[in-house]
Amino acid sequence: MLTRRRVLFAGAAAAGAATTGALVTGRGDGSARPVAPAPGPPARRPLKPSAYRLQPLTGYGAPSAAPRRTPVRSEPILRMPARGRTMMLTFDDGPDPRFTPDILDTLARYDVRATFFVCGEMADYNRDLLSRMADEGHVVGNHTWSHPLLTRLDRRGIRSEMERTSEVVEQAYGEPPRWFRAPYGAWNRAAFQLGAELGMEPLAWTVDTLDWTTPGTRTIVERVEDGAAPGVVVLSHDAGGDRSQSVRALRSYLPGLLDSGYHLTVPRRHYV
Ligand SMILES: [Zn+2]
Repeated sequence: MLTRRRVLFAGAAAAGAATTGALVTGRGDGSARPVAPAPGPPARRPLKPSAYRLQPLTGYGAPSAAPRRTPVRSEPILRMPARGRTMMLTFDDGPDPRFTPDILDTLARYDVRATFFVCGEMADYNRDLLSRMADEGHVVGNHTWSHPLLTRLDRRGIRSEMERTSEVVEQAYGEPPRWFRAPYGAWNRAAFQLGAELGMEPLAWTVDTLDWTTPGTRTIVERVEDGAAPGVVVLSHDAGGDRSQSVRALRSYLPGLLDSGYHLTVPRRHYV
C-alpha cells in the first residue's frame, strides 16, 4: 500500500498535479491548462435516472423543502469560514482496523468530532467502523473507491470510483456522503462535475501533516500546532501504511489545541 502510494504520488508530481490543497491542473483530460471556472451558473442538465442518488429521497411523508443543488466548483474548498478559534481534523484513506479505532477512541475521549474521507474498498471491509463513526457524530466523506489519480481516468472511471464509494458509505454510515476529496488533491473538471451531481462538495485542506511520509510523531504534532489558525482544515491519514505516528500525534496535539481554546468541528454545508 505504501509502495503504491509512493509510486502514484511520484506520478502525480511528474504529471504536474500539485499535492497540496491548492487547485490542480487537469492534465488527465488532455489539457495542460488549469481548470477554468465554469462560465455562468452551473448547467442545469436533466438528471439521468440511472445515476446514483441524483435526487434526494423524500420518504413517505410530505415532501420537505428541496435541498439546494450542489454547485459545480472550479476549485476545492481549502478552509472553512470560522468565527473564533474553529478548526477541522480530517483523516484520509481508511478506515483501517489497525489505526482508526485508536483515533476514534482519542476523539471520543475529548468529545471531538472529525471528518473521515474513506476509500470504498476499505470501507467495504470495515463497515463496522463506519457505523461507529455515525454513532459518534463524525462526518464521512468520499475519497474514491481505490485511490486512483483521477486526472488519469476517463469520466466513466471517475464516476464509477465515486458512485461505488457513495453506495457503500450510505449502506454502512446510514446516509450518503456530502463531501468528497480527490486522492492526492488532484482534481479536474470532471471530478468537480461528477461530485456535484452526486450531491458532494469538494473539500481539500489547509495544513498537510505529510504524516504518510512517517516523519516522526513530534514533527506531525509540530506541523499541526504551527498551522493552527481559525478555519484551518488539517489533513492526516488513518490508513495507507503504518499510521501509528499519526495515532500518537493526535493524542498529543488534540489536548493541546483544546487547551489553546480551539473548537474542533466538522464541515457544514450551510457554511459554503
Ligand atoms: Zn488519500
